[in-house]
Amino acid sequence: MKLADSVRFVRGVGPKKAELLGRLGIATLEDALLCYPRGYEDRTRVTPIRRLLDGEKQCVHAVVGAPPRTAHIRRGMDVTRCVVYDESGALTLQFFNQSYVASSLQTGQEYAFFGKIRAEKRGFVMLSPEFEPVGAAQCTGRVLPFYPLTAGLHQRDLYRVTDAALAALPGEMPDFLPARVRAQQGFAPLGDALRAIHRPQDMQQAQQARRRMVFEEFFLLSCGMGLLRARRSGRCGAKLRDLSLTAFYRALPFALTGAQQRAIEACTLDIAAGRPLSRLIQGDVGSGKTMVAAALCYLAAKNGRQAVMMAPTELLAQQHMQTLQPLYGALGLSCGLLTGSLGARQKRETVQAIEAGELSVVIGTHALLRGDVRFRDLAVAVVDEQHRFGVQQRAALTEKGENVHLLVMSATPIPRTLALLLYGDLDVSAIDELPPGRQKVKTYAVGERMRPRIDAFIDRQCAEGGQVYVVCPLVGDGESGRTSAEHTAERLTAALPHRRVALVHGRTKAAEKERIMAAFAGGRVDILVSTTVIEVGVNVPNATLMVVEDGDCFGLSQLHQLRGRVGRGARQSYCVFYGADRGEDARERLKTLVHTDNGFVIAQKDLEMRGAGDFFGTRQHGLPPMKLADLAGDTRVLEQARRMADALLAADPALTEEPQLRARVEKLFAQHGEGSFN
Ligand code: ADP
Ligand code: MG
Repeated sequence: MKLADSVRFVRGVGPKKAELLGRLGIATLEDALLCYPRGYEDRTRVTPIRRLLDGEKQCVHAVVGAPPRTAHIRRGMDVTRCVVYDESGALTLQFFNQSYVASSLQTGQEYAFFGKIRAEKRGFVMLSPEFEPVGAAQCTGRVLPFYPLTAGLHQRDLYRVTDAALAALPGEMPDFLPARVRAQQGFAPLGDALRAIHRPQDMQQAQQARRRMVFEEFFLLSCGMGLLRARRSGRCGAKLRDLSLTAFYRALPFALTGAQQRAIEACTLDIAAGRPLSRLIQGDVGSGKTMVAAALCYLAAKNGRQAVMMAPTELLAQQHMQTLQPLYGALGLSCGLLTGSLGARQKRETVQAIEAGELSVVIGTHALLRGDVRFRDLAVAVVDEQHRFGVQQRAALTEKGENVHLLVMSATPIPRTLALLLYGDLDVSAIDELPPGRQKVKTYAVGERMRPRIDAFIDRQCAEGGQVYVVCPLVGDGESGRTSAEHTAERLTAALPHRRVALVHGRTKAAEKERIMAAFAGGRVDILVSTTVIEVGVNVPNATLMVVEDGDCFGLSQLHQLRGRVGRGARQSYCVFYGADRGEDARERLKTLVHTDNGFVIAQKDLEMRGAGDFFGTRQHGLPPMKLADLAGDTRVLEQARRMADALLAADPALTEEPQLRARVEKLFAQHGEGSFN
């Protein structure tokens, strides 16, 4: 058979199986080769019986001591037991409803057994082992790959097709990795690597092969990102002649930090050079990203063009409006708000004002993406809290003008590995300096026992003129004994009757939410109980205490974000996470936050503990999924791949010398990503 042949022609694969394989993306033998094992079971190691470990799957070589005996336990259930020996001790094999094994175990013969061990009072028991004569190397004595499956498929089906595919490998496989890259990385020829990843002789071989495949994934992705970057930088950006910010700086109530100024300068340099700005501003919560965006929007408006700023929630859009409208007003520039909750008439008027160019700066939510929102002359687009939006939404916003300068902002500190992947097509500025006068937030991880003291502490913060956030995982009464916001609000109202308690959650009507948030911001509410609706970006400098109920059920990065809601004013602020009494794991996680306030360290920890799933969530980033690469563990490989891809692209920007590579990258991105590179 040839690699291009359909898996339907493999013996033992009927039309039904072929259809199921198709669901895994395996139509041809070549596809089967690219379906790498999820993991391996190492059955090469033989363990002496005396050294077996409880609960592990292990392999022993042992002699059958006496004929197996079958006993009837109850209706429809019998158990067959057999004692086997090696030089170190004895082991009981136990099979349920498999009395037929008795006939294939000959007394006095040695077999290889593989199965899960359970330590019992009378000694080790191996549960329903697989077995074969020593040396048969079918089910023991080898490293068994296991493949991703779907209902109705078995590992043996995958073995069939991968066996057939390996048999069809030509003597020399064309390799899309450039020869120089292969040599530098010390990779074996592709054919050998494929054999090793599917049928490794030992674990070391499997590891080596895996490294190559991980490198490949990252390399392809990096090349793709590089091509995207090249596509953008080949264009010219919207021209903004007047790049002076003096009036803007003068209108601000404070001096910008060095980091803010550097970020703004990086942007204006790009614009001055005629390049389309395409930059990620990364900075911890409270680092003042909004002002960087505001400066860019100001430049667009000042040059008679338009700017748009998109935020993920109404609350946040309104907050931006409240900060920026007076600022732009003082500078003689118009600024408008467009969100989903506007009344029909107001919405229509705003949309018309945008189209007529009467509004210079437009702030809003997803509502901005609607087709009927047309700009007269859009030059700058800002996406705030970028991780809440996908690559496609980012693109949809910039498509509302020509050669639009794009600025994306993120407070979710993304581990380097992910940043390189998700934002590989963007330049990055880090705002690594907080506005002056901020103090560290004192953080505590506590258990239920501390509740009376924490309640008293909440009261004291209010007495001293501060305000308090209390965040709960649920709105109403919920499953699994978690704390509901409604219940917490009632409890605190009863416990602290002299304090003004308010409640906001995802089901609160927009107008009501706005009223409450305004009251909290204005100091007319002491304690704001909420769900994570306040997670992103909310800014009330007078708030000095953040209490999070059930801290153990949030991600570390999310908790760090919540903590960032306080410590925004000059006063000492505090953060309390409940949940430290929910087991060792929970305590460990929460302790991470007590010990560090570096968002990047926390994000990295989060990634290690919870995997990339959270970051990749709904896949809305629109990039090809990783088959093998472990984003937390493979940082070094990623960095090497990225460096080599960049070097290659620097010498050969369109990959004309490497047509095979280019074809692979295009195929990958055409299936999952942004389409064409041209
Ligand atoms: P984030 O980076 O989380 O979006 P914001 O832009 O909301 O942060 O800024 C947080 C707070 O810090 C706001 O109240 C803002 O007015 C204030 N701020 C921003 N820059 C400065 C500065 N250079 N000096 C003092 N306060 C600042
Ligand atoms: Mg912000």
